Amino acid sequence: MKRSVQEINKKISRGQATVLTAEEVTRMVIEGETPTVEDVEVITTGTTGIMSGTAAIIHLKIDEPGSFKKAKKIYLNGVPGFPGPCPNEWLGSVDLTIYGTANSVHDPEYGGGFLFKDLIAGREIEISVETSQGELITTTSNLKDMATAKMIGTRMAFKNYTAFVNPEPQSVSSIFHAIEMEGPFKGLSFSGCGELNPLENDPQMKTICMGSKILLNGSEGLILGTGTRSSLNKPNLMLAADMHNMDSHYLGGFKTAVGPEIYDSVALAIPVTDQRILEKTFIRNSDIKLPVADIKGRHMPLGEIDYGQVWEDSDERPQYHPENCMNCVNCLVKERCPTKAFNQGLDVKKCFGCGMCAYSCEYGTCQMNIGSVELKLQQGEFEIPIACRQSDLKRAREISNLLKKRIEEGNFYIFEC
Ligand code: SF4
Ligand code: SF4
Repeated sequence: MKRSVQEINKKISRGQATVLTAEEVTRMVIEGETPTVEDVEVITTGTTGIMSGTAAIIHLKIDEPGSFKKAKKIYLNGVPGFPGPCPNEWLGSVDLTIYGTANSVHDPEYGGGFLFKDLIAGREIEISVETSQGELITTTSNLKDMATAKMIGTRMAFKNYTAFVNPEPQSVSSIFHAIEMEGPFKGLSFSGCGELNPLENDPQMKTICMGSKILLNGSEGLILGTGTRSSLNKPNLMLAADMHNMDSHYLGGFKTAVGPEIYDSVALAIPVTDQRILEKTFIRNSDIKLPVADIKGRHMPLGEIDYGQVWEDSDERPQYHPENCMNCVNCLVKERCPTKAFNQGLDVKKCFGCGMCAYSCEYGTCQMNIGSVELKLQQGEFEIPIACRQSDLKRAREISNLLKKRIEEGNFYIFEC
């Protein structure tokens, strides 16, 4: 049986579409069922992880028209943006681009990802502008007052990732770990949401194309095309959406050993137009290979594991045991928590489930099973604890379920490629 996207959209409009998440369909297959085209109209997928290619394009009123000629430099909460490309001469306003990976000039632990979360949460932002005439203007603003605030991701929702270890005794700093990675083989960091990952469920992009709709951090947006460095075997997507409609839960800053990064959440719908499309979504975590590379020479894999080894039977979030806390002078958990979720206790809303707290506190204040992997290498066999997850499966599940709900309620339609 085949069905068209138009037929699927008709069912959505009548509130009759059957929608499953990619995890739900895979569970059915693991339990011995074989879903068919008759059973399901749409599969939703999702991913949450560090997405360094994130930027915001903003139009911002600074002062009255005529008050300054042009902005030469601009900072939002100390995070530098790039004024332009439109000069907005004598308009009293600035067009700017700001990177999710940009670092505050005041605070080494604050950057674009934290700023975007603050903006989307409705917080007041400090703005400072150096004008072309050499004046300094300071003011405050918030997302509601920004007429334009669009997010663009130049390289998002990768299909393929690499996990990293450090085979040498000297520690190594990298964006791929929250702290300097200790070695040899003291911990592993990885990204990717396995069987829920959008492009694992439609690897040849048969139902995904320029113009397809997506949820980016909860806001309905679209695919602009393939992203930078995308290839047939290793695709990723370029996406855009309006920041005014985003939910701050789905994005934020993530501190790494070399500065702040940004995480985002993406959900994508796969229309089930025939059985072959559906069967691609049967993929399981254990089917998806994850190469493991030296964090310094990251293009030469040392070995290979799979997503079953990194996600199955692990905890989504830490359990907090304040009774175990020794009130150390330097709390390693507070210092290392990439999302600043651990301050005076654990703020579960900010938690990303990365596992650094459990890895770092020897007294068991934060307990979490994030598992370990067995790696066979030339040097021998190693059992390596997972030290840092740079993807958040819990949020990925939430955004794939959010998209499922919107389709079931007739609030999200499928674009025909
Ligand atoms: S490192 Fe652990 S025991 Fe020490 S202060 Fe931090 S949470 Fe408490
Ligand atoms: S798992 Fe622990 S270290 Fe990671 S974000 Fe949550 S509280 Fe912070």
